[in-house]
Amino acid sequence: MSYTPDTNRYEEMKYRYAGESGLQLPELSLGLWQNFGTDAEHSVATDILCTAFDRGITHFDLANNYGPEPGSAETRFGKILKEQFAHHRDELLISSKAGYPMWPGPYGNYGSRKYLLASCEQSLRRMGLEYVDIFYHHRPDPNTPLEETMGALATLVAQGKALYVAISNYRAKDALQAKALLDEMGCPCILNQVRYSILDRWTEEDKLLDALDGKVGMICFSPLAQGLLTSRYLDGNVPSGSRAGENNSLKANSITPLMVERLNKLNAIAKGRGQTLSEMAISWLLKDERVTSVLIGASSVAQLEENLRAIKGDRPFSKEDLEAIDELTV
Ligand code: NDP
Repeated sequence: MSYTPDTNRYEEMKYRYAGESGLQLPELSLGLWQNFGTDAEHSVATDILCTAFDRGITHFDLANNYGPEPGSAETRFGKILKEQFAHHRDELLISSKAGYPMWPGPYGNYGSRKYLLASCEQSLRRMGLEYVDIFYHHRPDPNTPLEETMGALATLVAQGKALYVAISNYRAKDALQAKALLDEMGCPCILNQVRYSILDRWTEEDKLLDALDGKVGMICFSPLAQGLLTSRYLDGNVPSGSRAGENNSLKANSITPLMVERLNKLNAIAKGRGQTLSEMAISWLLKDERVTSVLIGASSVAQLEENLRAIKGDRPFSKEDLEAIDELTV
């Protein structure tokens, strides 16, 4: 039986416009990169998605290769959509992407028109959708003309397979070129999805937010540095079942004594603000109004609930807190 969403689901969440578009994203979005693939427990995956929607998270972020196995997160998401959300499609923002290796041969990777159009079609089939709300080029392709890649995105909009298009992992210079090309085609680029957290500041060095100037929104992935900026590793141990325990995208050897010391100092600042470390890490990103949304992952409902507390109330950062955080991250 499908669940009945909470009638108060829009009361707490705040929404921000994606760049100059009319599309609003929740301040907190949920990504399905991990925890939704073949190995995931279906009931846990379902509970996470339903809880998210109950709390105003309308945006679920996917990509062709999310799994493992690649494609399996989209397949599971499609199943849960059908089981639980059949009557709520118009309340959901569903995104997918192509740009990383997906199938063998020269047409299953990077940014050719051939790859993007076929991949979007495959994603739609896996999710059982007629269209995605946002389709991203997942990463820059140095060997394909940007005109071709952006042209493929514009074609997806013209075909009705994507409502909006966006880019991911683009540096400021390339992002501005992509935007200009899409503008010429009458197909605005609404977002650049990039890695940004207290521990990872490449976007600041790149002056990306200044370059985008609010015209293209920024959605920040791995805001918790894959779990480092949570209570997960504060005692220096790597719990079984944690991402570092998997030793895949987050390496167990990144939990060094120096890192643990840093995380504990950050945690002390968070405590002083009346927050947990993960709440502070999310608030820290949302303090800049040019950030459209913070894109978290969660392996349990409890994690999601904790992270959602970050959007409750206004907790401005003092100059002292900001300086202390900066000192611990560079
Ligand atoms: P996070 O930095 O939010 O890390 C999420 C992980 O941190 C969880 O799976 C969990 O790991 C741990 N965690 C989260 N909350 C808590 C908590 N409160 N307490 C303890 N542990 C917690 O983001 P992700 O790295 O998962 O990325 C989020 C999304 O961003 C992805 O799903 C994807 O949609 C997108 N993304 C995009 C990329 C791109 O190239 N465009 C690349 C990477 C991600 P665990 O319990 O397993 O230890």
